[in-house]
Amino acid sequence: MDIAIIGAGPAGAAAATLLARAGREVTVFDRANFPRDKCCGDGLTALALRELEMLGLAPATVGSWQPVDDVVIRSPSGREMRYPLPEGPGIHAAVARREDLDNSLVDLARGAGADVRESTPLRDAMASIDGVELTVGDDEHFVARHVIAADGMWSPTRKALGLAIDGYRGEWHAFRQYYRNVSPRASRELVIWFEKDLLPGYAWSFPLADGRANIGFGIQRGGDNAVGAMNELWLDLLERPHIRDVLGPDAEPEDRHLAWPIPARVGRVPLVGPSTMFVGDAAAVTDPMTGEGIGQALLTGRLAAEAILHAADPEKSYEREVRCELVSDDRMARALIPLLGHPMITRGAIRLTGANGWTRRNFARWMFEDYPRAMIATPRRWHRGMFTGSGAFAAE
Ligand SMILES: Cc1cc2nc3c(=O)[nH]c(=O)nc-3n(C[C@H](O)[C@H](O)[C@H](O)COP(=O)(O)OP(=O)(O)OC[C@H]3O[C@@H](n4cnc5c(N)ncnc54)[C@H](O)[C@@H]3O)c2cc1C
Repeated sequence: MDIAIIGAGPAGAAAATLLARAGREVTVFDRANFPRDKCCGDGLTALALRELEMLGLAPATVGSWQPVDDVVIRSPSGREMRYPLPEGPGIHAAVARREDLDNSLVDLARGAGADVRESTPLRDAMASIDGVELTVGDDEHFVARHVIAADGMWSPTRKALGLAIDGYRGEWHAFRQYYRNVSPRASRELVIWFEKDLLPGYAWSFPLADGRANIGFGIQRGGDNAVGAMNELWLDLLERPHIRDVLGPDAEPEDRHLAWPIPARVGRVPLVGPSTMFVGDAAAVTDPMTGEGIGQALLTGRLAAEAILHAADPEKSYEREVRCELVSDDRMARALIPLLGHPMITRGAIRLTGANGWTRRNFARWMFEDYPRAMIATPRRWHRGMFTGSGAFAAE
């Protein structure tokens, strides 16, 4: 077997699509059956949108796709600030249910020629002289020349190869609940609540098509709130008048709520193993400040594919590229987190960024990663039009 990809989430599907399109033999194993849900806020930043556009995803194939125009942030003191995202062409933020998005991405990978095998979990992996020996599904064995481990936060591939970090449970823990019949406001606006007792975490309401919204909140592991107390905290959040107002009187929860860890340790967990590259959550590459990881999953999936296609030593090249793309943003985000933990600083920052139309628009661009977070420290990214460029899918 040439290339085995473990996990068909955004990271695995991106890598599979690009490799299959380049004519390589790619087999993707996922333990789930698609369409499958993934506990997530479903928010797509400009990074994710640009990667999706590059992959050739058509937003029209994603049922719940909802572009976002305005972001509303409520400071710990109760002050609300509206941040308009740049007006067309193109979009700078969108929301799409992961069940729909990931299914479209799997279709894209299949369409490119990848063999996607559902309900086929990885059972074991062992380095061998010709690559990696894999055991999957009902005790099937393969030897893959290259392995891309895109199997999420708990990465069974990492564990099987003996590269798991003892006791590691992610930097954040986040909770999600879908609602239907939400207020017109919640079905249109992306709202972020910086609640005093959640800082540096936050609660959100992200709009979806058909009068639905994805509501949730995230807390920092090891902070003031215990992960075990999230259920009570959730009930308490739902009682807060400003949150109830946004949801509206007819909002009804759908299905069960879910909670899941968010790993955010770019470059501080091994990115590679023997003939193996870890991508997406399996590489802990989510943004440590916001918890966003879909864009980073797509990006690292692409970098792993490009390393296999173009580098003499794919693992070395991949590791270098990931560090180059993500480490400065990660450092800047980590430097900002302790500041966000202070209600006064968060309040001041929201007042400052909301000073005028220019600051509001550019803060929204920066937050949604139209230009990367640590741009100031990475002159290689400076280019003409970086404050004014169009959004993703501008041609559509
Ligand atoms: C509550 C919450 C809210 C979030 N909100 C956002 C947001 O709004 N925007 C954003 O960008 N990010 C958000 N994130 C982060 C985002 O969900 C992840 O970073 C993203 O899903 C990572 O994608 P991935 O492809 O690496 O992994 P995943 O999407 O987790 O996919 C991993 C795949 O591996 C498969 N797998 C697992 N074990 C095996 C096995 N043994 N064999 C085979 N396959 C296996 C799984 O079935 C799955 O399909 C949020 C996370 C949480 C928890």
